[in-house]
Amino acid sequence: MSQSRLASCIPLPIENKLLTNVVEKAKDWALMHGVGMRDKVHFSKDSIQIAPFVLLPSPFPRTEFTKAVDLQPVLNELMHKVAHDDEFLEKTLQNALQVDDFTAKLYDIWVKVREEGITQALSLGLFRSDYLMQQPDSNRIKQVEFNTVAASFGAITSNLPTMYRYVMRQLGHGELIKNMPENKALSGLCSGIIEAYDLFAVPSAVVLFVVEEVSYNICDQRFHEFEISEKRPDIMIYRKTLNEIFEEAELNDKKQLIIEGQPVAVVYYRSGYEPAQYPSQKEWDARLRVERSSAIKCPSIHYQLAGTKKVQQALAAPGALEKFMSESEVSSRVRDIFTGLYSLDFDENGERAVEMAIADAERFVLKPQREGGGNNLYGADVKEALIRMRHSRERAAYILMERILPPLISGYVVRAGGSMPPTLCDLVSELGIFGVIIGTKEKIHSNRQVGHMLRTKLADANEGGVAAGLGALDSPYLL
Ligand code: ADP
Ligand code: MG
Ligand code: MG
Repeated sequence: MSQSRLASCIPLPIENKLLTNVVEKAKDWALMHGVGMRDKVHFSKDSIQIAPFVLLPSPFPRTEFTKAVDLQPVLNELMHKVAHDDEFLEKTLQNALQVDDFTAKLYDIWVKVREEGITQALSLGLFRSDYLMQQPDSNRIKQVEFNTVAASFGAITSNLPTMYRYVMRQLGHGELIKNMPENKALSGLCSGIIEAYDLFAVPSAVVLFVVEEVSYNICDQRFHEFEISEKRPDIMIYRKTLNEIFEEAELNDKKQLIIEGQPVAVVYYRSGYEPAQYPSQKEWDARLRVERSSAIKCPSIHYQLAGTKKVQQALAAPGALEKFMSESEVSSRVRDIFTGLYSLDFDENGERAVEMAIADAERFVLKPQREGGGNNLYGADVKEALIRMRHSRERAAYILMERILPPLISGYVVRAGGSMPPTLCDLVSELGIFGVIIGTKEKIHSNRQVGHMLRTKLADANEGGVAAGLGALDSPYLL
């Protein structure tokens, strides 16, 4: 099938001399405003290079953008309820737990914490729901996944509308700026952390960011620290790895998590979502210690479990949404954004899904219970993996998802060390909407949509993670 194309914000291509000039200006703007990451090849704490971005804001249908924005509080609440439904989580994850050691270890922590008695009933969610447009379906949005842990790029992308306003003016199209929505993701996400801090209500308490051994995506993380410090000079933030938490953090007799002599009010995980971030038992012990504590976790362990691919698939099964949403209207609105999702459990349904995907592998994506990009299988690899797992329980660690075919967009990707001027490419965009939720099982204190991000990748790349080096930061131009 030929792929449709969305009209770009201005006529393309841009003439070479003008293009070179504007790219140079945009690169400097990016560097000087923290649209950056640390260099993976020549790592140094003394330098930052530009994060990949597209030169022009990519077109996105206004109605679909608004739909995603309006839906966010509904999805926040759905995930909150799912996370607090022990029976649903257990039933949904039980087969995957037998074959997926990582999810099983997270789940064990959840069981231990529950058995011991929950010390902190409040959870903080800084969520991001991701969408691709489905072009055979009038470019309506379909949900790619729902992130409940370490959802990134809210900070850097909050700067991008300003960069694009500048770029558009340099190109003589300042009049089009009205079609670029503001993005308040950074202040919105930080307002969640601050609100949770105030609910903890212990003077002199601190905030703890759980970070990787090496943070390449440092700008995005630091912007949160700067923003919180500006809004609330009384809040001190510490950055610690899981290993440092193992060595330095302790629980006192009130189960407060004590770091640098102070109780921790909020723990914000920017690490801890993938197996490589737990190289030894120490990191797992640290995670358990944090979960046992009175600190408000972002996410709590059950929020993290609710964000697994297996839960996403289970929610798409007939009748599942109705368990969590009373209004049939809401559940039809949510159902509308789901694409085909199939269980690969070792049963009759799983059997059927395996055969269906082997027969027509190009139509599907095979996803393990992982985060962070680069874990999924596509096309011939789907077929090969499913033939290998046809008679193995191992397949319950995966879900099968219909492949979404987004419309093409024309644009220029600007990267550190990239060709000058960049060439005009075929791209596709993925929209992310950020949400904040704070609550206990009984009561939701806050629930709101706070901003968005757009990531754009080469049309022929399977995945587009920016931190993984595949995608480029972007901002929507509403059509
Ligand atoms: P992760 O948690 O690792 O980010 P995702 O479900 O977001 O996992 O998948 C990673 C990337 O793979 C997405 O950003 C998207 O580019 C691509 N992808 C995932 N699911 C689909 C799908 N159903 N159709 C097309 N592309 C997909
Ligand atoms: Mg994810
Ligand atoms: Mg993703």
